[in-house]
This record gives sequence, structure tokens and C-alpha cells, in this order.
Amino acid sequence: MQTLGDLIDEGVHSRTVLVRCDLNVPFDGDEISDDGRIRASVPTIEELSEEGAQVIVVAHLGRPKGGPDPALSLGPVSARLGEILGAPVRLVHLHDGPPSMAAGDIVMLENIRFDPRETSRNPAERAELAGELVALTGGDGAFVSDGFGVVHREQASVVDIAHELPAYAGGLVLAEVEVLRTLTTDPAHPYVVVLGGSKVSDKLAVIEALLPKVDTLLVGGGMCFTFLAAQGHAVGDSLLESDQVGTCRELLESGKIVLPTDVVVADRFAADADTRTVPVDAIEDGWLGLDIGPASVAAFAGVLAEARTVFWNGPMGVFEMAPFAEGTRGVAQAIVESSAFSVVGGGDSAAAVRALGLPESGFSHISTGGGASLEFLEGKDLPGLAVLEQ
Ligand code: ADP
Ligand code: MG
Repeated sequence: MQTLGDLIDEGVHSRTVLVRCDLNVPFDGDEISDDGRIRASVPTIEELSEEGAQVIVVAHLGRPKGGPDPALSLGPVSARLGEILGAPVRLVHLHDGPPSMAAGDIVMLENIRFDPRETSRNPAERAELAGELVALTGGDGAFVSDGFGVVHREQASVVDIAHELPAYAGGLVLAEVEVLRTLTTDPAHPYVVVLGGSKVSDKLAVIEALLPKVDTLLVGGGMCFTFLAAQGHAVGDSLLESDQVGTCRELLESGKIVLPTDVVVADRFAADADTRTVPVDAIEDGWLGLDIGPASVAAFAGVLAEARTVFWNGPMGVFEMAPFAEGTRGVAQAIVESSAFSVVGGGDSAAAVRALGLPESGFSHISTGGGASLEFLEGKDLPGLAVLEQ
């Protein structure tokens, strides 16, 4: 793989470099609620700018439906990036052609997914968009792939562009790949994986891939209820994927999966709902489980204290609402306190670390890519990485 360092060695002064970043940050109304992905993108952008490149940042926000959507403009993101860099980052548009730039300038292209060719399944359409991106760079442009959160996507600004321009892995992508390679090739044991989040069906593939490699898999979050149902428990109105109960039963036969023993239930999905902590065999109809309980946190923490490698993906409960945040906080705290090599993967999990006030430095690595890190751990070929290896 050619890297950012190789590009710098070749010389980038006055060349236009397209940098694909993952700046798909969460919003609370008009405000960016977590700018972790923006901050993670800064080192590569800054290095190129300091070397005198003309940097065009390419990124997306949300899932626009087939055209421009002012609510999904990257305007606030370019403004925040400019604040962090201490230099303005102008928002530019593909249809305006090559932006006028001086050496060291940084601009951001408006949401690339406003153009439906970005995500088209038709390679000719994607190649056409990639060609228009190349045209922004003049004759001797380069492409730096630094959006780890999108490398599992077969998209114009991730994959097709790398066929059209000399392509390099950015610092963030390299760091992510190195950490995830450690987890897949040579993890120190005990290797403990903590999985949560909402949908079990999203994560079955990674569970199957990880089970042979891990010593213990701790399961919380909305997905634990399908496992609890597989053990024969009634789960009331909790999240349940009935069609996955059979698969969960088979996975439980591994003997490596540890489920919660108590849960926080609520009479409705709201921060001011009535709540109770109950054993998992006492979830009544009309109640929904929205967090793991304190006994479960203590048991999970005991396993984590012995671990030498930890991978955590998916919050243990609906941490966005205070009454259901303690499970996630407790498990995250236990990871911070352990001396294990610890990796957090997943947009919401990383956001939870920051929202709950845990020290980011308490984890060995916080991945910016949820889906991408899971697919990497599943052993899948990620098209955005494969194209850099060609
Ligand atoms: P990540 O982005 O870290 O991969 P997911 O997207 O899989 O995580 O899941 C995050 C979401 O799961 C959060 O928004 C959280 O509110 C939700 N969640 C966690 N536990 C529950 C639960 N018991 N019931 C419903 N939703 C839950
Ligand atoms: Mg998520």
C-alpha cells in the first residue's frame, strides 16, 4: 500500500490532493453533538497543507435521497474543521469546477452524496463522477484515502477515484488497519469482546467470525434480548428479532457468550418513563429493557478485569437517556480500568465514551469506523483498502 508518507516524499507542493475523509458526525438540531471524526481527520489534512498541497476534502453527511438537501449540507462541518485548524475552510461545489487555491489552502467539497452517482451500483456512473473529481485537481493530482469509516463502501469517492489518480492511504486509515490487524492476527489472551447496540442481525456475522478467536463474548444492548429469548426468557416489549432466535440459540452453544442477569426496564421508551431493575427471568409484558442492570455490569467488569485484549462495539443500553446510561458507563469504565489493549469500534460507542465523560485516553484506540471495523474483523475484503493495495 502506498502511504501518505510516500506521497509527501514524492513532493506535494502546489499539487491538488483530494482527501476522502469520514466526517459523518451526529447532530443535535443545528449543533454538531460529537466532532470526534472531524478531529480524527485533522492530522492528515494538516500535514498535506503544511507541505504546501492544495487540499480538497471530500466527505458525505447522512443519506441524501437522490439530490441536494440543505439539511445535510457540510457547511457546519467545514466551519468546525476551520475552527480546529485555525484557518478558514471554504465549502466548494463540484459543478463550479476547480476551486482557485494557493499552496497550503484547504477547501471542502459539498456533501458528495448529493450526487447520486457516488453510491450508484452502476460502475460507469461512479467512474463518471470520479472523472469529474479528478478534473478538480489539474494535471498532477493525488488521492489520499483517509475515511476509514467508508472503506467498506464501493463508492465513487472511495474506490473508483483510486483507479483514476495515484492513491495513498492516509494516516488515520493506516492507524486503524494496524490496530485491527493486531486484533485479527495475534490478540493477547484472554481476548474479550463486548457487543451491544440495537440490532442483532447487523452483528451476527461478526459474532460468528469472532467466536472461534475470543475467550469470552459479553452481550448487552438491545441485541441481548434476542439471546435471552433464545434461552427461553420472556422479554416483554424489548427489542426482539424473532427470526434470529434460532441462530442465537446455536451461538450460545459455544459456551463463550455471557448474557446479562438483570436489566433496567421501562414502561415506555422515554427519559422520564417509570423504571425498575429486574432479573432477566422477570421481565413483564408491557415493559421494555433499555439497559443492563448493576449485577450484570459487575459480572462483565469482573471478566474485563482479567482481559488482555478487549474489543467493544455497541452501547449496553439507550445511553442517550440518562436513566439507561449506567450500563454503558460501567462497562466502559471497566475497560478503562483494565490493563488490556482496548479498542472501541462503532460510531455510537465512540460517541458514548465522550458523551458519558470517560477519558478517551483510557482506551488504546477508538475507531472512527463502525461498520468498517466490524467488516474488517469479519475477515471481509474492504473495497476501499483493496484498491489501495493494487
Ligand atoms: P455502534 O454505532 O456503536 O455500532 P449501534 O449503532 O449498533 O452501535 O447501536 C447504537 C444504538 O443502540 C444506540 O442508539 C442505543 O440507544 C441503542 N440501544 C442500546 N441498547 C438498547 C436497547 N436495550 N433497546 C433499544 N435500543 C438500544
Ligand atoms: Mg450506530
